[in-house]
Amino acid sequence: MNKKTIKDVCVKGKKCLVRVDLNVPMKGGVITDENRINGALPTIKYLMEQGAKVILCSHLGRPYNIFNDKIKKIKPEDESKTREELVALTLKKCSLAPVAARLNELLDNKVTFATDVIGESAKAAVAACKEGEVVLLENLRFHAEETKNDEDFCKALAEFCDVYVNDAFGTAHRAHASTAGIAQYGLCDEAVAGFLIGKELDVMGGALETPVRPFVAILGGAKVSDKIGVINNLLEKVDTLIIGGAMAYTFFKAKGYGVGTSLCELDKVDLAKELIAKAEAKGVNMLLPVDTVVATDFPNPIDAAIEVDVVPSNSIPDDKMGLDIGVKTRELYADAVKSAKTVIWNGPMGVFENPTLANGTIAVAKALAETDATTIIGGGDSAAAVKQLGFADKMTHISTGGGASLEFLEGLELPGVACLNNK
Ligand code: ADP
Ligand code: MG
Repeated sequence: MNKKTIKDVCVKGKKCLVRVDLNVPMKGGVITDENRINGALPTIKYLMEQGAKVILCSHLGRPYNIFNDKIKKIKPEDESKTREELVALTLKKCSLAPVAARLNELLDNKVTFATDVIGESAKAAVAACKEGEVVLLENLRFHAEETKNDEDFCKALAEFCDVYVNDAFGTAHRAHASTAGIAQYGLCDEAVAGFLIGKELDVMGGALETPVRPFVAILGGAKVSDKIGVINNLLEKVDTLIIGGAMAYTFFKAKGYGVGTSLCELDKVDLAKELIAKAEAKGVNMLLPVDTVVATDFPNPIDAAIEVDVVPSNSIPDDKMGLDIGVKTRELYADAVKSAKTVIWNGPMGVFENPTLANGTIAVAKALAETDATTIIGGGDSAAAVKQLGFADKMTHISTGGGASLEFLEGLELPGVACLNNK
């Protein structure tokens, strides 16, 4: 894609405000998964080496807006709490202080933490920041203005910004102050992508714009309704469209098959018919499961032991529900992947959270792991499945954005990308 990246601009001596994704899972003030911190490091280290003054900003969790006079959207269980209690609770759960401490360890003691976002602490930390050093601002969402993309808030943030760098793909589909506003309002000299967003645009954008063919898309997951835009957009581009997951049952219904008690969106059956017709008209090879793993009930809890059968897809018994693709389908789909040069995958093939129902998803993940084709994984649960099943390092690219990657696959323009300068 023709967006400028940090490699295209001179950052020496400049204040670079970098929107990173440091929204790491935490338990009792302890970081439980450092993946996002590690993901942000290449961009941060590069900017430090180039002699930039690196000002990092991120959100973390779903905090109250404790930096505003009035705290809004208080949950029922917190209604009786005083302001002081709400502030303490929010700081305990959502302060970026523990992340700053960890970053400081990883970056040779060069990181200063500001205890506010645009206030005195931030101003002092930025003023003291030397070339090659880093400041991490406190959680952006402690201000309600962040998600409102408030212009004055953008202006205050822009005091810390000669060059705006967006490297948080997970929030790139939102037009917030830190994800788009600063650049949208023209408050910086340059607006460029960091390495993470750069790779998303190169690999995913490249596949959508100029795919090496055959181009195969595999779509699964729970609902057709979540993925209509993705299916529609990909039908314009792919040679083969593979459907799995619960989404398949709405297509079964459209073909006149019974679906038993499977998850099925009756109000989307007509749409499924249209999508089948569109595939035909476009000459896209649409593959649906030929056999289906069924059980009497949905597993509860989700990883409970479960008795299953495999039936042809056009004969799901009335009292059974489909929960995974069958053995023949796995072979069919693996063969389609083998002959592909580009594969995009979103949505598990079955209820992969259950070991007995993960085999369809494993088979597809394996096929992707074994091919030399470009392999791209989009979507939160799909990325989680690939990681959980141990195939992560075998893929060309696992998108760092769940919702954002879906919007990207829909062909929508993401505000956090649109706001960046063109090359
Ligand atoms: P993503 O987040 O990657 O876009 P989705 O959220 O659309 O994926 O779908 C993931 C969920 O779909 C998983 O929790 C999985 O259990 C569920 N799922 C897949 N197949 C079935 C099925 N046959 N019946 C019910 N749920 C299913
Ligand atoms: Mg999901």
